[in-house]
Amino acid sequence: MFKTVFKSVVLSSALIAAVQLHAATTKQAPVVIQGALDIETDRMISQLKGVKTKTYGGWQFWEGTYQGYPIVISRTLMGMSNAAAATTLAIEHYHPKAIINQGTAGGHDPELKVFDIVLGKESENIGAFITDKKVLGEGSNSLTWHKSFNLLPKNNTPEEEIRHLRFEGDSKLLAAANSLKSTYTQGKVVEGVIGSADVWNNELDRIQYFHQNYKTSVEEMETASAAQVASLYKVPFLGIRVLSNNLTNNGNYNPGTGAACQDYVLNVAKAYLAQK
Ligand code: SAH
Repeated sequence: MFKTVFKSVVLSSALIAAVQLHAATTKQAPVVIQGALDIETDRMISQLKGVKTKTYGGWQFWEGTYQGYPIVISRTLMGMSNAAAATTLAIEHYHPKAIINQGTAGGHDPELKVFDIVLGKESENIGAFITDKKVLGEGSNSLTWHKSFNLLPKNNTPEEEIRHLRFEGDSKLLAAANSLKSTYTQGKVVEGVIGSADVWNNELDRIQYFHQNYKTSVEEMETASAAQVASLYKVPFLGIRVLSNNLTNNGNYNPGTGAACQDYVLNVAKAYLAQK
Protein backbone atom coordinates (compact mmCIF):
# COMPACT_ATOMS: atom_id res chain seq x y z
CA MET A 1 0.00 0.00 0.00
CA PHE A 2 2.67 2.46 1.14
CA LYS A 3 4.79 1.44 -1.84
CA THR A 4 1.96 2.04 -4.30
CA VAL A 5 1.18 5.49 -2.84
CA PHE A 6 4.87 6.33 -2.81
CA LYS A 7 5.25 5.18 -6.41
CA SER A 8 2.30 7.20 -7.62
CA VAL A 9 3.50 10.31 -5.72
CA VAL A 10 6.91 9.94 -7.35
CA LEU A 11 5.33 9.35 -10.73
CA SER A 12 2.93 12.27 -10.51
CA SER A 13 5.62 14.67 -9.32
CA ALA A 14 7.80 13.52 -12.22
CA LEU A 15 4.86 14.18 -14.53
CA ILE A 16 4.27 17.67 -13.08
CA ALA A 17 7.98 18.46 -13.41
CA ALA A 18 7.95 17.28 -17.02
CA VAL A 19 4.87 19.38 -17.80
CA GLN A 20 6.46 22.41 -16.11
CA LEU A 21 9.68 21.90 -18.03
CA HIS A 22 7.73 21.62 -21.27
CA ALA A 23 5.81 24.82 -20.46
CA ALA A 24 9.06 26.61 -19.63
CA THR A 25 10.83 25.48 -22.76
CA THR A 26 7.89 26.19 -25.07
CA LYS A 27 7.23 29.64 -23.56
CA GLN A 28 7.78 32.10 -26.38
CA ALA A 29 10.85 34.31 -26.04
CA PRO A 30 9.98 38.01 -25.87
CA VAL A 31 10.76 40.86 -28.20
CA VAL A 32 12.76 43.52 -26.37
CA ILE A 33 11.77 47.06 -27.37
CA GLN A 34 14.25 49.76 -26.44
CA GLY A 35 13.75 53.50 -25.94
CA ALA A 36 16.26 55.96 -24.51
CA LEU A 37 13.99 58.28 -22.55
CA ASP A 38 10.68 58.20 -20.69
CA ILE A 39 8.98 59.96 -23.62
CA GLU A 40 10.16 57.02 -25.75
CA THR A 41 9.04 54.20 -23.40
CA ASP A 42 6.10 55.42 -21.23
CA ARG A 43 3.36 54.77 -23.70
CA MET A 44 4.44 51.20 -24.45
CA ILE A 45 4.74 50.37 -20.74
CA SER A 46 1.20 51.67 -20.13
CA GLN A 47 -0.11 49.23 -22.76
CA LEU A 48 1.45 46.07 -21.24
CA LYS A 49 -0.46 43.61 -19.03
CA GLY A 50 0.97 41.81 -15.97
CA VAL A 51 4.03 44.05 -15.77
CA LYS A 52 7.04 42.97 -13.70
CA THR A 53 9.89 45.46 -13.48
CA LYS A 54 13.58 44.88 -12.78
CA THR A 55 16.55 47.23 -12.54
CA TYR A 56 20.17 46.31 -13.20
CA GLY A 57 22.54 49.17 -12.43
CA GLY A 58 20.96 52.22 -14.04
CA TRP A 59 18.89 50.28 -16.58
CA GLN A 60 15.24 49.47 -15.98
CA PHE A 61 13.19 46.78 -17.76
CA TRP A 62 9.42 46.17 -17.82
CA GLU A 63 8.33 42.62 -18.70
CA GLY A 64 4.72 41.92 -19.65
CA THR A 65 2.40 41.02 -22.50
CA TYR A 66 0.89 43.08 -25.31
CA GLN A 67 -2.31 41.51 -26.67
CA GLY A 68 -1.02 38.17 -25.38
CA TYR A 69 2.50 38.45 -26.84
CA PRO A 70 5.57 38.59 -24.57
CA ILE A 71 7.32 41.98 -24.62
CA VAL A 72 10.11 43.53 -22.56
CA ILE A 73 10.47 47.31 -22.62
CA SER A 74 13.98 48.59 -21.91
CA ARG A 75 14.81 52.18 -21.02
CA THR A 76 18.37 52.32 -22.35
CA LEU A 77 19.10 55.92 -21.33
CA MET A 78 20.59 58.29 -23.87
CA GLY A 79 23.72 57.69 -25.96
CA MET A 80 25.89 54.97 -27.46
CA SER A 81 27.46 53.51 -24.30
CA ASN A 82 24.14 53.33 -22.48
CA ALA A 83 22.53 51.62 -25.46
CA ALA A 84 25.30 49.00 -25.62
CA ALA A 85 25.09 48.25 -21.90
CA ALA A 86 21.28 47.98 -21.94
CA THR A 87 21.41 45.67 -24.96
CA THR A 88 23.89 43.33 -23.26
CA LEU A 89 21.75 43.22 -20.11
CA ALA A 90 18.59 42.57 -22.16
CA ILE A 91 20.14 39.66 -24.01
CA GLU A 92 21.73 38.05 -20.96
CA HIS A 93 18.62 38.38 -18.75
CA TYR A 94 15.71 37.92 -21.18
CA HIS A 95 17.16 35.86 -24.10
CA PRO A 96 14.93 37.75 -26.55
CA LYS A 97 13.76 36.44 -29.88
CA ALA A 98 14.55 39.86 -31.33
CA ILE A 99 15.35 43.44 -30.37
CA ILE A 100 13.82 46.64 -31.73
CA ASN A 101 15.49 49.95 -30.95
CA GLN A 102 13.06 52.83 -31.44
CA GLY A 103 12.50 56.46 -30.61
CA THR A 104 12.96 59.96 -31.96
CA ALA A 105 15.51 61.15 -34.53
CA GLY A 106 16.56 64.18 -36.55
CA GLY A 107 16.08 64.18 -40.32
CA HIS A 108 18.99 64.18 -42.78
CA ASP A 109 16.74 63.70 -45.80
CA PRO A 110 14.80 66.83 -46.89
CA GLU A 111 12.07 64.54 -48.29
CA LEU A 112 11.20 63.33 -44.79
CA LYS A 113 8.88 65.29 -42.51
CA VAL A 114 8.40 65.37 -38.74
CA PHE A 115 6.21 62.32 -37.81
CA ASP A 116 7.51 60.21 -40.75
CA ILE A 117 8.94 56.85 -39.65
CA VAL A 118 12.21 55.32 -40.89
CA LEU A 119 12.65 51.54 -40.80
CA GLY A 120 16.37 50.93 -40.42
CA LYS A 121 17.32 48.74 -43.36
CA GLU A 122 20.81 49.69 -42.18
CA SER A 123 22.35 51.59 -39.28
CA GLU A 124 25.84 53.02 -38.99
CA ASN A 125 28.06 54.56 -36.36
CA ILE A 126 28.59 58.14 -37.60
CA GLY A 127 30.93 59.13 -34.79
CA ALA A 128 34.04 57.21 -35.85
CA PHE A 129 36.71 59.07 -37.84
CA ILE A 130 40.38 59.40 -38.64
CA THR A 131 41.59 62.91 -39.46
CA ASP A 132 44.41 64.16 -41.65
CA LYS A 133 47.44 65.56 -39.79
CA LYS A 134 47.41 69.33 -39.29
CA VAL A 135 49.93 71.44 -37.40
CA LEU A 136 49.08 73.76 -34.51
CA GLY A 137 47.13 76.74 -35.76
CA GLU A 138 45.88 74.93 -38.89
CA GLY A 139 42.44 74.50 -37.36
CA SER A 140 39.91 71.70 -37.78
CA ASN A 141 37.26 71.00 -40.43
CA SER A 142 35.02 68.01 -39.85
CA LEU A 143 33.95 67.97 -43.53
CA THR A 144 37.46 66.73 -44.43
CA TRP A 145 37.50 63.87 -41.90
CA HIS A 146 37.62 60.28 -43.18
CA LYS A 147 35.46 57.34 -42.19
CA SER A 148 37.28 55.44 -39.50
CA PHE A 149 39.25 52.40 -40.66
CA ASN A 150 37.41 49.29 -39.63
CA LEU A 151 40.24 46.80 -39.79
CA LEU A 152 41.77 45.83 -36.49
CA PRO A 153 45.23 44.25 -36.21
CA LYS A 154 45.04 40.50 -36.78
CA ASN A 155 44.26 38.73 -33.56
CA ASN A 156 43.67 35.14 -32.55
CA THR A 157 40.27 34.57 -34.14
CA PRO A 158 39.12 35.54 -37.63
CA GLU A 159 36.04 37.33 -36.21
CA GLU A 160 38.29 39.74 -34.35
CA GLU A 161 39.84 41.04 -37.57
CA ILE A 162 36.93 43.25 -38.53
CA ARG A 163 35.27 45.98 -36.55
CA HIS A 164 31.93 46.59 -38.20
CA LEU A 165 30.37 50.01 -38.05
CA ARG A 166 27.42 49.42 -40.40
CA PHE A 167 24.66 46.92 -39.58
CA GLU A 168 21.79 45.44 -41.57
CA GLY A 169 18.29 45.31 -40.11
CA ASP A 170 16.85 41.79 -39.79
CA SER A 171 14.77 40.90 -42.84
CA LYS A 172 11.89 39.26 -40.91
CA LEU A 173 11.58 42.24 -38.56
CA LEU A 174 11.72 44.54 -41.56
CA ALA A 175 8.97 42.53 -43.28
CA ALA A 176 6.77 42.76 -40.16
CA ALA A 177 7.42 46.52 -39.96
CA ASN A 178 6.65 47.02 -43.66
CA SER A 179 3.42 45.01 -43.37
CA LEU A 180 1.93 47.70 -41.09
CA LYS A 181 2.78 50.73 -43.27
CA SER A 182 -0.80 51.38 -44.33
CA THR A 183 -1.97 51.51 -40.69
CA TYR A 184 0.13 54.61 -39.94
CA THR A 185 -1.85 57.80 -40.43
CA GLN A 186 0.49 60.48 -39.03
CA GLY A 187 3.07 60.43 -41.80
CA LYS A 188 4.78 58.06 -44.19
CA VAL A 189 6.83 54.96 -43.37
CA VAL A 190 10.00 54.38 -45.41
CA GLU A 191 13.06 52.14 -45.32
CA GLY A 192 16.33 54.01 -44.76
CA VAL A 193 19.67 54.37 -43.03
CA ILE A 194 19.92 55.38 -39.37
CA GLY A 195 23.14 57.18 -38.35
CA SER A 196 24.16 57.06 -34.68
CA ALA A 197 26.68 58.99 -32.59
CA ASP A 198 26.85 60.90 -29.31
CA VAL A 199 26.35 64.08 -31.33
CA TRP A 200 23.41 66.34 -32.17
CA ASN A 201 24.32 67.91 -35.53
CA ASN A 202 22.82 71.32 -36.29
CA GLU A 203 25.25 72.30 -39.09
CA LEU A 204 23.48 71.88 -42.42
CA ASP A 205 26.73 71.25 -44.33
CA ARG A 206 27.60 68.46 -41.88
CA ILE A 207 24.10 66.97 -42.15
CA GLN A 208 24.33 67.04 -45.94
CA TYR A 209 27.78 65.39 -45.75
CA PHE A 210 26.28 62.42 -43.90
CA HIS A 211 23.26 62.27 -46.15
CA GLN A 212 25.50 62.16 -49.26
CA ASN A 213 28.35 59.99 -48.00
CA TYR A 214 26.57 57.64 -45.59
CA LYS A 215 23.14 57.83 -47.25
CA THR A 216 21.63 58.60 -43.82
CA SER A 217 17.90 59.29 -43.58
CA VAL A 218 18.07 60.31 -39.90
CA GLU A 219 20.47 60.70 -36.99
CA GLU A 220 20.11 59.75 -33.34
CA MET A 221 22.26 58.41 -30.50
CA GLU A 222 21.59 54.71 -29.92
CA THR A 223 20.65 52.40 -32.80
CA ALA A 224 24.04 51.44 -34.31
CA SER A 225 25.43 50.77 -30.87
CA ALA A 226 22.59 48.40 -29.91
CA ALA A 227 22.86 46.82 -33.39
CA GLN A 228 26.56 46.16 -32.83
CA VAL A 229 25.94 44.26 -29.58
CA ALA A 230 22.97 42.36 -31.03
CA SER A 231 25.08 41.33 -34.04
CA LEU A 232 27.79 39.82 -31.85
CA TYR A 233 25.12 37.80 -29.99
CA LYS A 234 23.42 36.96 -33.33
CA VAL A 235 20.06 38.31 -32.08
CA PRO A 236 17.77 39.64 -34.86
CA PHE A 237 17.66 43.43 -34.65
CA LEU A 238 15.87 46.40 -36.23
CA GLY A 239 15.96 50.15 -35.60
CA ILE A 240 12.72 52.12 -36.09
CA ARG A 241 12.83 55.89 -35.73
CA VAL A 242 10.30 58.68 -35.99
CA LEU A 243 11.45 62.13 -37.08
CA SER A 244 10.96 64.51 -34.14
CA ASN A 245 12.86 67.26 -35.97
CA ASN A 246 14.35 67.96 -39.41
CA LEU A 247 16.57 71.00 -39.80
CA THR A 248 16.89 70.44 -43.59
CA ASN A 249 13.25 71.46 -44.13
CA ASN A 250 12.52 73.59 -41.03
CA GLY A 251 10.82 70.71 -39.22
CA ASN A 252 10.65 71.92 -35.62
CA TYR A 253 11.22 69.53 -32.69
CA ASN A 254 7.99 67.83 -31.63
CA PRO A 255 8.23 65.51 -28.60
CA GLY A 256 4.73 64.16 -29.35
CA THR A 257 6.29 62.06 -32.11
CA GLY A 258 7.65 59.63 -29.48
CA ALA A 259 4.18 58.24 -28.71
CA ALA A 260 3.36 57.69 -32.39
CA CYS A 261 6.52 55.63 -32.86
CA GLN A 262 5.85 53.52 -29.76
CA ASP A 263 2.34 52.60 -30.95
CA TYR A 264 3.72 51.56 -34.33
CA VAL A 265 6.56 49.51 -32.87
CA LEU A 266 4.39 47.59 -30.37
CA ASN A 267 2.35 46.37 -33.33
CA VAL A 268 5.50 45.49 -35.27
CA ALA A 269 6.62 43.32 -32.34
CA LYS A 270 3.20 41.66 -32.23
CA ALA A 271 3.21 41.02 -36.00
CA TYR A 272 6.73 39.57 -35.76
CA LEU A 273 5.84 37.23 -32.89
CA ALA A 274 2.66 36.14 -34.69
CA GLN A 275 4.76 34.96 -37.68
CA LYS A 276 5.49 31.24 -37.79
N1 SAH B 1 14.16 66.37 -24.59
C1 SAH B 1 15.49 65.87 -24.40
C2 SAH B 1 16.18 65.80 -25.70
C3 SAH B 1 16.95 64.59 -25.83
S1 SAH B 1 17.74 64.62 -27.29
C4 SAH B 1 16.29 66.74 -23.49
O1 SAH B 1 16.12 67.93 -23.53
O2 SAH B 1 17.12 66.21 -22.72
C5 SAH B 1 18.61 63.23 -27.49
C6 SAH B 1 17.80 62.01 -27.73
O3 SAH B 1 16.91 62.20 -28.82
C7 SAH B 1 18.72 60.88 -28.08
O4 SAH B 1 18.32 59.76 -27.36
C8 SAH B 1 18.58 60.71 -29.59
O5 SAH B 1 18.50 59.35 -29.93
C9 SAH B 1 17.31 61.46 -29.97
N2 SAH B 1 17.41 62.47 -31.03
C10 SAH B 1 16.32 63.08 -31.56
N3 SAH B 1 16.67 63.97 -32.50
C11 SAH B 1 18.02 63.93 -32.59
C12 SAH B 1 18.98 64.65 -33.40
N4 SAH B 1 18.61 65.56 -34.30
N5 SAH B 1 20.29 64.38 -33.24
C13 SAH B 1 20.68 63.48 -32.33
N6 SAH B 1 19.82 62.78 -31.53
C14 SAH B 1 18.50 63.00 -31.65
